[in-house]
Amino acid sequence: MYVGDDASRSPRLHRFLAEHARRLPYMTEARIRSAAAMTVDGRDEPASEELITAMGPGRWPYRIIDRSVDQRLEKHALLVAVRFWPHRTFTCFTPPEVLPVVDEERLPPPVPEATGPADLWWADDATAIEVTLNGWPPEQDRWTVRYFARTPRQAADANPTVYAAIGHETVPADWCALCSHDIAPGTTCPPVRDTNDRHRRGRP
Ligand SMILES: [Zn+2]
Repeated sequence: MYVGDDASRSPRLHRFLAEHARRLPYMTEARIRSAAAMTVDGRDEPASEELITAMGPGRWPYRIIDRSVDQRLEKHALLVAVRFWPHRTFTCFTPPEVLPVVDEERLPPPVPEATGPADLWWADDATAIEVTLNGWPPEQDRWTVRYFARTPRQAADANPTVYAAIGHETVPADWCALCSHDIAPGTTCPPVRDTNDRHRRGRP
């Protein structure tokens, strides 16, 4: 459970929490934070402001995925805001523990509040680019790159933009985890018909 009263959070996250979070009116953020706990070496400790998320799929080593609860929420709120837009998906490979090197001049402004150790975001009113770590076998890090555009015609800009901006081996993905279907290389996932249309109309 999480409450978003803090003015430091983005308007996007406030909208996301207002639409998706449930809150009991008598609960303050301080009470909820003090009730949060994490288990460390078998001991329960109060959750700190710098609560991080670690994932260790299979035999891969643990990795820090989010630098804070707020950043985790910010990236989720941004993905929810754009996920119904047409998009193209790529896979990028970097050496282990190396963040992708990106030429930001070719991209919309960065979104630092949503960006963390395993997620990079750039967005404006028309396009959004997400680079998210999806696997870290010992020999390399694998990143999913998604280019969201408000219109299918804009989505066609994905290939030249992504290939020019990302300085690592990058190839079209053959699977879209958002849509749960195979994608022919170089094609665009069409906009999703959301029963709740507000996500596609709103600002990213
Ligand atoms: Zn898709």
